[in-house]
Amino acid sequence: MRAALAAAEAAAAAGEVPVGAVVLLNGSIVATGANAPRALRDPTAHAEMLAIRAAAHALGRDRLEDCDLWVTLEPCAMCAGAIAHARIARLYYGASDPKGGAVEHGPRLFGQPTCHHRPEVYPGIGEAEAGALLRDFFRSRR
Ligand SMILES: [Zn+2]
Repeated sequence: MRAALAAAEAAAAAGEVPVGAVVLLNGSIVATGANAPRALRDPTAHAEMLAIRAAAHALGRDRLEDCDLWVTLEPCAMCAGAIAHARIARLYYGASDPKGGAVEHGPRLFGQPTCHHRPEVYPGIGEAEAGALLRDFFRSRR
C-alpha cells in the first residue's frame, strides 16, 4: 500500500485526483498506476486500469489470476469490471467511496450474478492516509 500511496501522491502533484494502484505477483510489484485521465486525455485512465494494463503487458498475458491489486480508493464500476476480467486474485483497497465505488457501494459488482470472477476483497488498508490525500486534494481545489 505504501507504493500505491506514493503513486496517489504523484497523481496529486500532477493535478489529478490522487488515486494510486499497484499489481503484485508473489509479493513483488509488477506494475504501478497513478490516476491520469487529464494528462492522458483518457477518461478510462484510472490508476487500476493503468496498473492492470501495465502488469498484463509486463507479464505477457491477459489473465492475472496469481496477482494482487492494491489501490488507495474503492474501485469504480469500470475498474471493478477490469479487475474481474483480469481475474485478479486479491483486491486490497484503502478509502471507501460511497459516491463512486462499486465494490461495497452502488452496483456492488463482484456480488452480481453476471460477474464471473470475484477476487478476495480486503477493504480499509491504509484508509486514513488514502482518505487524507483525497480530502487535502479536494480542499485545495475549492
Ligand atoms: Zn476506476
